Amino acid sequence: MTDPTPLLSDVFGHSAFRPGQEDIVRAVAAGQEVLAIMPTGGGKSLCFQLPALMTPGVTVVISPLIALMRDQVRGLREAGVVAGALTSGNTPEETDFVWEAAEAGTLKLLYLAPERLAAGAALGMLRRIGVTRIAVDEAHCVSQWGHDFRPDYLRIGELRRALGVPVAAFTATADAETRAEIVEKLFEGQPPVSFLHGFDRPNLHLAFQPKNSPRSQILKFAAARKGASGIVYCGTRAKTESLARALREEGHPAVHYHGGMEAEDRRVVEARFSREDGLIVVATVAFGMGVDKPDIRWVAHADLPKSIEAYYQEIGRAGRDGAPAETLTLYGADDIRLRRAQIDEGLAPADRKEADHGRLNALLGLAEATGCRRKQLLAYFGDALETCAGCDHCDSPPEVMDGTEAVRKALSAVLRTGEYFGIGHLTDVLTGNATDKVRARGHDDLPTFGVGRDMTRPVWQSVFRQMLGLDLVRPDPERHGGLRMTEAARPILRGEASVTLRKDALKAAETTRRPAV
Ligand code: ADP
Ligand code: ZN
Repeated sequence: MTDPTPLLSDVFGHSAFRPGQEDIVRAVAAGQEVLAIMPTGGGKSLCFQLPALMTPGVTVVISPLIALMRDQVRGLREAGVVAGALTSGNTPEETDFVWEAAEAGTLKLLYLAPERLAAGAALGMLRRIGVTRIAVDEAHCVSQWGHDFRPDYLRIGELRRALGVPVAAFTATADAETRAEIVEKLFEGQPPVSFLHGFDRPNLHLAFQPKNSPRSQILKFAAARKGASGIVYCGTRAKTESLARALREEGHPAVHYHGGMEAEDRRVVEARFSREDGLIVVATVAFGMGVDKPDIRWVAHADLPKSIEAYYQEIGRAGRDGAPAETLTLYGADDIRLRRAQIDEGLAPADRKEADHGRLNALLGLAEATGCRRKQLLAYFGDALETCAGCDHCDSPPEVMDGTEAVRKALSAVLRTGEYFGIGHLTDVLTGNATDKVRARGHDDLPTFGVGRDMTRPVWQSVFRQMLGLDLVRPDPERHGGLRMTEAARPILRGEASVTLRKDALKAAETTRRPAV
């Protein structure tokens, strides 16, 4: 195998690998099957482009976006690499170039649009030209549940088998379910070597606050950053307008943005935001996809995002230039109810809804964390963290209390019900609420039934969320998000370890009148 380091500088012009890149490059070049999870902008393309140059034969790259394929092909050719693309938009000259290079044996990377796989015609040609491996960009497009589902991606597994070559798959989507689906569909169940790297964004400062007086909390945050470009995300369209007005009254240049606006008006906001310094956009999540401004200095959530993934993506729009940027996320009982209702009233099938509740729980666990936010956020994605570069809890730790007994009761409810149920049902069991489901399962006869009557339902829910945050329980996607106990919880159950819980979160939960289910 060729040494990758000289190629890194000679062809790609980079002086060093980013964390994780070299291991992935070596594994791919060695012919291993690989699943690499890296955040957007982390440098995934290098991880299949470089191995293509280290080994003989053609690397087939399957990618969902024609524009992106063209950019990469252009970049590679400028660097002197023989690369080509076969897409529906090809000119005859481009197609001829690709065939000739393939027949001549000089072609190193062949980008294929996924719909090319449907024709079946591709197979004969690929057999002839000597394919070394298949690289799959945006591999989460095989997931039928994801928003980017591409039916033609389901044919990649067949192609892998027909050609008998390894697959190297890349995605920024890190949740366990999508990963499992990628392994099943792309690798036909044979687990690849997995890599997960680079989710930490050290220049982003993370902070959460319980929502007390949301408008003044946001105004205060903005006032401390006057003159800097920022985004405020809101849960409703109406709120974007009223909050933008309030910011203007405080002397900030601020505009609103939501999906209900005319396309032309939206474009004007996008153009102003990227051009102007110091503009604040108050928006729904409709704002973001097309936003490519490197110097956004802060992102605030006036309402809780819908999941931990959404949170990560939304705060991730700040500080793309690597300079320090700040984030603040507000959360309150109303948000939790709203997000729950949105999931329940959505059109997704039941198991999907359970999983969405699980992702929301993970975010709530982060909001009610006792320790470092960054560590907990990265742990969710499976990425380890050595030192936190900045979060509100590392700045000043929150008030805590001993929660060992409550956690033990909660764990016993999890175990005695067979590690199969979500927070709602477990709370029913603990508080002695004999619902139809509780009675049908005979859970009203368990010794755990009603042992938690001394605490209200919202307090128990906060306990469970904090347990999720501490990774004492985990939603099991194979059991519709039912909670399972983790190894970390065992010493607590045996009385060998204690747990601390957030005092303010429990107190805030206690004052919630209507239970948030
Ligand atoms: P994505 O992971 O989103 O596909 P890209 O592969 O497009 O990201 O890479 C994002 C940017 O990072 C590109 O501009 C690329 O040139 C740059 N990059 C990738 N690897 C390195 C490296 N080792 N050193 C410096 N820049 C790099
Ligand atoms: Zn921290």
